[in-house]
Amino acid sequence: MDTFEKIGSLAKRRGFIYPGSEIYGGLSGTWDYGPLGVELKRNIKEEFWKTMVRNRDDVVGLDAAIFMNPKVWEASGHLEAFSDPLVECKKCHHRFREDNLGEKKECPDCGGKEFTEPKQFNLMVEASLGVIEGEKQKVYLRGEITQGVHVNFKQVLDSTRIKIPFGIAQIGKAFRNEITPGDLTFRSREFEQMELQFYVKPEEKEGKKWFEYWKNERMEWYLGLGMKKSNLKFREHEPEKRAHYAKAAFDIEYKVSDGSAGLTPSSWKEMEGIHHRGDWDVGRHSKFSGKDLSYFDEESKERFIPWVIETSGGVDRAALFFLMDAYHEEKLEKETRIVLKLHPKLAPYKVAVFPLLANKENLVKKAKEIHGELKKKWMVAWDERGNIGKRYRAQDEAGTPYCITVDFDTLDNNSVTVRDRDSMKQERVAVKELSVYLEKKLA
Ligand code: ATP
Repeated sequence: MDTFEKIGSLAKRRGFIYPGSEIYGGLSGTWDYGPLGVELKRNIKEEFWKTMVRNRDDVVGLDAAIFMNPKVWEASGHLEAFSDPLVECKKCHHRFREDNLGEKKECPDCGGKEFTEPKQFNLMVEASLGVIEGEKQKVYLRGEITQGVHVNFKQVLDSTRIKIPFGIAQIGKAFRNEITPGDLTFRSREFEQMELQFYVKPEEKEGKKWFEYWKNERMEWYLGLGMKKSNLKFREHEPEKRAHYAKAAFDIEYKVSDGSAGLTPSSWKEMEGIHHRGDWDVGRHSKFSGKDLSYFDEESKERFIPWVIETSGGVDRAALFFLMDAYHEEKLEKETRIVLKLHPKLAPYKVAVFPLLANKENLVKKAKEIHGELKKKWMVAWDERGNIGKRYRAQDEAGTPYCITVDFDTLDNNSVTVRDRDSMKQERVAVKELSVYLEKKLA
């Protein structure tokens, strides 16, 4: 089994990720998040929001509509840029104008030799608004969440007291008619992005400073949530492959470990992009809307179109790679244990509570009491099926950091067994100290 298959199988078995509309045969490139997956994803978004918005004075949040005036996509270049006849490399999924591939028909990025048929295609997903046939307006589901921020640049400025340099962060769904969706959620047709658009003075020094700053911040964010350093790296986009307006672009890539049955083209995969977009966005929207979106700097008394440093990550890709990074198979004496060593901040359940035996009323009652108490603070799982060993295995696969067992001693001395997911060590903890104990452990 390759890494994607392993994760896919665990994700389905435990309720992280299911194929979309599966009972109807599915729908290519769509995925549904189950009870554990939705928690993981919410936790990722929550951490993003805390780090990027709440804990800062220079970033505000926004939640723009998915439908936008189609002119937005003309201005952003999406309609134009995606309407060439293109082929896609079947190995690395990068797209090229067929005529740029040359005689040998070899992928310039990965050396792949197989391509999809050339197609006049547009990545934008079309929809129509209005109820009367013939009078419907063609619109697009946004292909990236970025533009919703830039079209609100002026409104945010006018309605807050924020000054350049500052950023606007957003999390939301984006849609792309990917030709070859695959590798689980890695390339989907509907996915979520978490982004920051950071506006700076249009000066080389400023642009460079903030670009380096955000590159570093974003890498630290993934590391701080437990991703292994050896599985992360930056990849710089070659100047000739960057969008023409981009002044610099780096990706944060995640290393998908081997064992891939040819499904994965290279082991390093894009997780997030950090882009220096120059004045492209605000400049284009000024021009296309006919509205003056320039910024007046009170200090220098200058008026200018700001430059933008963007950080653009995929929530689904991050979730997938957090799962991969956390996935461990450990050989124990009699079996192999599968455990997700997720960072406690990301783990769907922080704690699980078990009564030792499901048919002993007093044990169940006591365990329910503890469960109810802890639930006021955390997501807490409950399990009374099978034996304790089986319950531990289930929680290991769910990534639950701590399991609490209520046994007969609990009824005597009001203490419980707390078992650590990673070390599998057990400790006896007084019930009245549980909350403080877990708070420390989960911090
Ligand atoms: P790729 O080269 O893999 O198609 P991209 O360079 O087009 O990605 P961006 O437009 O920079 O991606 O989007 C920013 C982020 O959004 C990506 O780093 C990725 O995490 C996420 N993303 C983009 N397309 C998809 C997709 N089809 N499915 C899931 N996530 C995606």
